[in-house]
Amino acid sequence: MSVPLQRPIYLDCQATTPVDPKVVAAMLPYFTDCPGNPSSNNHLYGWEAKAAVDLARETLAEFIGATPRELVFTSGATEANNLAIKGVAEAYLTKGRHLITMQTEHNAVLEPCKYLEKLGFEVTYLPPQADGLLDLANLEQAIRPDTILVSVMAANNEIGVLQPISQIGQICHQHKVLLHTDAAQAIGKIPLNVEAMHIDLLSITGHKLYGPKGIGALYIRNRNPHVQVAAQLQGGGQEYNVRSGTLPTPQIVGLAKAIELGVAEQTVEAQRLTQLRNQLWQTLQTLGDIHLNGHPQQRLPGCLSASVAGVEGAALLLALQPYVALSSGSACASSKPSPSHVLTALGRSSTLAQSTLRFGLGRFTTSAEIEQAAHHVMQTIQRLRAGLTVLPMENERLNQL
Ligand SMILES: *Cc1c(COP(=O)(O)O)cnc(C)c1O
Repeated sequence: MSVPLQRPIYLDCQATTPVDPKVVAAMLPYFTDCPGNPSSNNHLYGWEAKAAVDLARETLAEFIGATPRELVFTSGATEANNLAIKGVAEAYLTKGRHLITMQTEHNAVLEPCKYLEKLGFEVTYLPPQADGLLDLANLEQAIRPDTILVSVMAANNEIGVLQPISQIGQICHQHKVLLHTDAAQAIGKIPLNVEAMHIDLLSITGHKLYGPKGIGALYIRNRNPHVQVAAQLQGGGQEYNVRSGTLPTPQIVGLAKAIELGVAEQTVEAQRLTQLRNQLWQTLQTLGDIHLNGHPQQRLPGCLSASVAGVEGAALLLALQPYVALSSGSACASSKPSPSHVLTALGRSSTLAQSTLRFGLGRFTTSAEIEQAAHHVMQTIQRLRAGLTVLPMENERLNQL
């Protein structure tokens, strides 16, 4: 078999998504015709940029049940998570120095927590249950008088599991502890409302939802309670002094447009993706000895993570590379040889964790693509399991390693 003329089928939507052409169209004027700095208040260019930013802020706020004043634009979810965690830790020093999170969080939550530990804070890393969900009784037990923040993600980026954020929020509010949720994977895909779910801080990003890379936001509750966040960037004092830096008007407009489109299609798209994902999983299961990671229903519509026994993970991904673009887990972690911290926290052996495929289906994924992808994956796994050498081209690639 020769190198396919087509590019591989893109199934890595948990890593990032293409920008929707409608989003690009909304952004374009703010690169060229309306180049003003939203903070320039002496001329038309500044005013129109500010009007665009204000409108985007209103749109975003409305979709999560917040007020515009409660949103701070950041460079993405990594920065929003850092601002939430370090910013709250710094602002509530006198109340306490204990934080609670989960072992299965994204590194953009875990690393700021580890950083705080070095500064003398204490962090409890709760384990997930075997299905990836947080045990609420465990959470309640972990809360102490000096606990200031609980950070639990809404949707996991590796296994797609959805945490019971409403219930977590209730527990946090009963104990007067702040709740932060990393909603990078959840926004525009599942309903989110900061009031109904008792969320105090919420991180979002554009590029997991057909928006541009390099833009995100942090929601910071302003009332009941008024949440304090210490700035982590000092400068021109933009964003109520919480996050300095010139506001990137095109990216902000793109972020709002992306979330607007996502929310508008949310219900229909969730049904379509769930159907495609189930179709894929049914086909893959016929292989035998393949294990779904995470709760079978409580999950993102477009995410399927499965560990395949009897094959070597690196060889499998390599053999699939020309046909299907997917990864074993987090994109940030896939450059590291160690098994995923999420899968090992679920109790997967390191061998199984390393032979894991994460399928990320998205807006532009078709049923025909899923059929083709399933075919390639099945064939490749069967060949590898049968001890057959991988196809000639892949052999060459393996030799180059
Ligand atoms: C992608 C991702 C991030 C990082 O977001 P960036 O905008 O790329 O910084 C954080 N958390 C989760 C759950 C993610 O999926």
